[in-house]
Amino acid sequence: MKEISQYRVIFYSAIIFTLFYNFSFFKAVLGVYPPSGMNIIYLFSIFALLIVFITFFFTLFSSKYTTKPLLIVTFVVSSFVAYFMDAYSIVIDTEMIRNTLQTNLNESTDLFSIKLVVYVLLLGVLPSFLVYKSNIVYKPLKGEILSKLKSLILTLVLVLVIIFSFSKFYTSFFREHKPLRYHVNPIYWIYSIGKYISNSLDSTPTTLKKIGLDAKIDFTKEDDEVKELIIMVVGEAARADRFSLNGYEKETNPLLKKEDIINFSNMYSCGTSTAVSVPCMFSFYSRDNYNYKKGVSTENVIDVLKNTGKVDILWRDNNSDSKGVALRVDFEDFKTPENNTICDDVECRDEGMLIGLDKYIKEHSDKDILIVLHQMGNHGPAYYKRYPKEFEKFTPVCKTNELEKCTKEEVNNAYDNAILYTDYFLSKVINFLKPYSKKYETAMMYISDHGESLGENGLYLHGIPYFIAPNSQKHVASFLWLAEGEMREDYDIEKLKSYSNRKFSQDNLFHTLLGLFEVETKIYDKKMDILNDAKID
Ligand SMILES: [Zn+2]
Repeated sequence: MKEISQYRVIFYSAIIFTLFYNFSFFKAVLGVYPPSGMNIIYLFSIFALLIVFITFFFTLFSSKYTTKPLLIVTFVVSSFVAYFMDAYSIVIDTEMIRNTLQTNLNESTDLFSIKLVVYVLLLGVLPSFLVYKSNIVYKPLKGEILSKLKSLILTLVLVLVIIFSFSKFYTSFFREHKPLRYHVNPIYWIYSIGKYISNSLDSTPTTLKKIGLDAKIDFTKEDDEVKELIIMVVGEAARADRFSLNGYEKETNPLLKKEDIINFSNMYSCGTSTAVSVPCMFSFYSRDNYNYKKGVSTENVIDVLKNTGKVDILWRDNNSDSKGVALRVDFEDFKTPENNTICDDVECRDEGMLIGLDKYIKEHSDKDILIVLHQMGNHGPAYYKRYPKEFEKFTPVCKTNELEKCTKEEVNNAYDNAILYTDYFLSKVINFLKPYSKKYETAMMYISDHGESLGENGLYLHGIPYFIAPNSQKHVASFLWLAEGEMREDYDIEKLKSYSNRKFSQDNLFHTLLGLFEVETKIYDKKMDILNDAKID
């Protein structure tokens, strides 16, 4: 093969990256700057800028030992990134990286497709092979350093020239259209990984901050000899507007509508991914103050309940894991047939989490009980796998994870059938609890972790940064069921129903759970307790 310098290989690679890995980016740019008049010139300048900047970036890290491996790894990873950005319009930010690392192999197989293989072969393997085979000649050290400096200075000058030639355009581009940069491949995902690593390193020596040390439950209060039994269901990717309880035209809640529930039609999530929403909703911090580090280093509402010494807590998980929430309480993995007795050839079903709970309740009768059930729910993109055959009421159904290949109707049907199964599961939870309402103060609370995009504006799945995320990823299904008997005597149900359309968010969960368990502590904020206004003293 012909001899070539490493700077030339980097330059060619930059052209390839810009041309073939950035469809999403240029699509997003065209959305903001339609191709007419000056915009066409701007577009070309972005093109040139990207090539020069990528060249600068790899030149910075170039050397005899790093150039080839760095380019090869970047090509392979970027081929995956390009696929997921093109197919699902997702972006790879630090939260997405955290989410991906917390996703288990089982969930990943759901994302496999032929198109992905094509992307990886053409954009990952092929250019990697060419780089690997390239006959790079290196000059003696001094000459290399000189060439490297020359290349760095040249590209940097070019970057500055391009930006300053169109300074007005680039000011608006960088300031007013921040979300555009999320699509720049490979620069943005490399930046995100860097940020993710620096965040993680930063949070390694964390000590757990205890909160609510004064929390106590007074069992001796005369009306409080009856223990509490509460089930909290954490849903998965259930949009509020797909519950017929919230006015969806298809009947997706045939069973729940028969139950006397208090529907929260205006519930909003804390994040747009499981990895953010789940720890955030149990956390003491509100959405504005929450971040990952604060979440893992501070006790959550489950810890506070446990610390009273009067509540036993069990977390059963059919989703992934508790995202750090249930580290200090009993945890059972229900994705495996070893624990879950209702598994078919597709997967273990949410309803399996109810099996054996009678035994748990019996064995913990001397205390209050909180059971958290973390659902598989509407985990995408393979919605058609999320329900047993008999729940396939809405047809035709999208039977592939390549959602863009299906019609909108087929995607909607698959998603709605999964909601239908969740309706069945949730009503089963309620009916499981009913027999306990004589002996216990019993309630069930349901909140989905986040919503989902189903092709609106070409967007699929979830995980878009919160401030630009569409409502469908943030407006979530949620309701409360209070059992007949002791539990209902504490609340004015009609009053509670009268304000169930108020805007609530996952920030309310922390204080609502403390309220339900009648915990006394300084950190309890009754204004944040959804039930407070309806409490009967
Ligand atoms: Zn989720």
